[in-house]
Amino acid sequence: MDRQTKLRRIEDSRRLCREHGLPLTAQRMAVLEAVLDLDNHPSADQVHEAVARLDPGVSRATVYRALESLARVGIITKACHPGKAIRYDSRSETHHHLVCLRCDGIIDITDERLDALPVPDTSGYGFEVSDFRVQLRGICRRCRELEETV
Ligand SMILES: [Zn+2]
Ligand SMILES: [Zn+2]
Repeated sequence: MDRQTKLRRIEDSRRLCREHGLPLTAQRMAVLEAVLDLDNHPSADQVHEAVARLDPGVSRATVYRALESLARVGIITKACHPGKAIRYDSRSETHHHLVCLRCDGIIDITDERLDALPVPDTSGYGFEVSDFRVQLRGICRRCRELEETV
């Protein structure tokens, strides 16, 4: 993510925090910056590793709690990957994912046709949909190339 985008995202985050009454503490800011810098759907462990490089005393639990509060106010989102560790997404606007079944890589894609998918009525399940993301699963370019050279 370029510097301009990062600064814009931090500005948006300040606004969202204010709106939700969530103090953007130095620790939450460090976690947010790590997610923005990693910019590739990091796991909590990867974020912890990055934050700990600057602040060696920070615990995994603290980072995890900060990630959860940032996700609760919509600054970052959770890219769910059932059965695997939660991955955090620096993008909160509608987009979709290409998920590699081999390396667990997640690639962002935008596609108007996917955005326009009709969301079914789930009230019968007592479930309220907040947003949705389409996961297209398969093998990424890098993994396919590795396969070919074997
Ligand atoms: Zn892959
Ligand atoms: Zn994403």
